[in-house]
Amino acid sequence: MSNPAKDHKADTPAPASNFIRNIIDADLAAGKHALRRWSGQPGLAAQQLAGELDAAKIRTRFPPEPNGYLHFGHAKSICLNFGLARDYGGRCHLRFDDTNPEKEEKEYVDSIIDAVHWLGFSWQDEKENNLYYASDYFDWMIASAEYLIESGHAYVDSQNAEEMRASRGTLTQPGKDSPYRTRSVEENMDLFKRMQAGEFADGTLILRAKIDMASPNINLRDPAIYRIRHATHHNTGDKWCVYPMYTFAHPIEDALENITHSICTLEFEDQRPFYDWLLEHLAEGGLLQRPVPQQIEFSRLNLTYVILSKRKLIQLVEEKHVSGWDDPRLPTLVGARRRGYSPEGFHLFAERIGVSKSDSLIDYVLFEDCMREVMNESAERRFAVLDPLRLIIDNYPEGQSEDCVVHNHPFKPEFGTRVMPFSRELWIEREDFMEEPSKGYRRLFPGNMARLRHGYVVECTGCDKDAAGKVIAVHCDYLPDTRSGTPGSDSVKVKGNLHWVSAAEGYSTEVRLYDRLFAYPAPGNRREGDAPELERDFLDDINPDSMQVITAILEPALKNARPEERFQFERHGYFVADRFDSQDGAPVFNRTVTLKDSWEKKA
Ligand code: ATP
Ligand code: MG
Repeated sequence: MSNPAKDHKADTPAPASNFIRNIIDADLAAGKHALRRWSGQPGLAAQQLAGELDAAKIRTRFPPEPNGYLHFGHAKSICLNFGLARDYGGRCHLRFDDTNPEKEEKEYVDSIIDAVHWLGFSWQDEKENNLYYASDYFDWMIASAEYLIESGHAYVDSQNAEEMRASRGTLTQPGKDSPYRTRSVEENMDLFKRMQAGEFADGTLILRAKIDMASPNINLRDPAIYRIRHATHHNTGDKWCVYPMYTFAHPIEDALENITHSICTLEFEDQRPFYDWLLEHLAEGGLLQRPVPQQIEFSRLNLTYVILSKRKLIQLVEEKHVSGWDDPRLPTLVGARRRGYSPEGFHLFAERIGVSKSDSLIDYVLFEDCMREVMNESAERRFAVLDPLRLIIDNYPEGQSEDCVVHNHPFKPEFGTRVMPFSRELWIEREDFMEEPSKGYRRLFPGNMARLRHGYVVECTGCDKDAAGKVIAVHCDYLPDTRSGTPGSDSVKVKGNLHWVSAAEGYSTEVRLYDRLFAYPAPGNRREGDAPELERDFLDDINPDSMQVITAILEPALKNARPEERFQFERHGYFVADRFDSQDGAPVFNRTVTLKDSWEKKA
């Protein structure tokens, strides 16, 4: 398989390409699915044909295995499948592909349900609730397997795993028929029944489709369809000791649910002939309704600076490189939510990257820009001082305070206003003062004037230092006629424009400045100039500065922020009130993304 991360240059995304929409348009125009019937529930042909014409123009599905947390790649698939159903008057099913007895857990089911809802999608309306568990279909899968046996399209093989591997052949050499391939229908049926009854140990027998051991497509060389596994299943308990293989189960699940377009990632392309073979035979036997679902492959999401491999994500969590599955630096959807990335941002991103059939690597900046674009519209503005330095206005009366009324959004008056108290002592950013200004510096330095936004123009008069020479306070005088919004306030022209927080009313709280988890675009991959023998490990590419925890001083209105409320901290970026953590009941904040990308120049 090609490795899309091997050249570290990200592609410029093409405008949302939509070959899948073209397929759907053509199908609808041809009336391909118009006569499908739907009983309201998944089921075999007999049940569906007794139902009404399916009101859903198309049916898609998102079919996660509940064996882990969803990540950005799944978000692409969710937006695609649910988005198509929405746009075409169809339905999208959420199906837990839980046919493997060993791995699934309830914890994952719950978190997947949460994530799909969080992204703004639903599988349920007044008429239908399309939440399904593939393990509810085991009886129908058994019926399908038995039909294949009866019709001479499946047989029980007694070869062991090693023998089966050896007789499978290679890409260049055909396989060899199993000596058990010619078993009679009766013998096959008897053995399969006894497999189900628990008479045989794991791995001793296996049911295989009888197709063609010489096929150039290895997936058609009599693929295994049912195996013996004495294991307790979280849904069906000990009812079964045989379980279907994924490549057998998945097409049947799609067909039982009346799925019209079964969209999956490219690595299943070689499985499509088996998908079609299987459904064709089951439809021929009258088990499944026609037309059968069509499998369509698209390329999976790959992003620079991001790891989406389940195995590596597990390693990051288990080895405690991050704080847990919802660490805001992880590309999981639970992490994204804590980070403050918005569902609307994911929708925009999915639309921008589109779908295609060629592997591509998307620049992380594109993802961040989508988030910025959405939040620029939707996030209220606030003042926050992240690296506080005290500013004392010596000519402002002690004990006096005024309310500055400030718009919450620069171009959305409907977002209303808030009050910021202004007083004699304020906090400003340390970087907004320089005792000896560098060339072009426009903010505060002795003798220079700057505007305190929404307040007054002040003139810097000097600073106080501690014994070590560190500046601990800045002094200034204000110009009483320059209050923002009053007539003539702009008669004094200044170049610096600073944000501030009143010292008495501002509140100090924890703020986490998150950054990319990896410092290199293709974590773990070789870089230009690497010695030929050098092997890289993705863990070595972790960005040591991916999280900085600071105590910041925020304007008082932020004390009332609700968990998950997002803001732009002016000049700093977008921040979210953490869903779970607080400090003495007051919100703590996570940085979602800076206002501008600062990585291009670093890299
Ligand atoms: P596993 O490695 O366990 O198979 P998976 O990431 O494929 O994990 P699934 O639960 O099988 O997880 O995936 C559910 C759906 O999400 C599938 O339809 C799959 O195609 C899609 N999907 C998974 N990863 C990506 C990705 N990076 N980009 C787009 N779609 C993805
Ligand atoms: Mg998978």
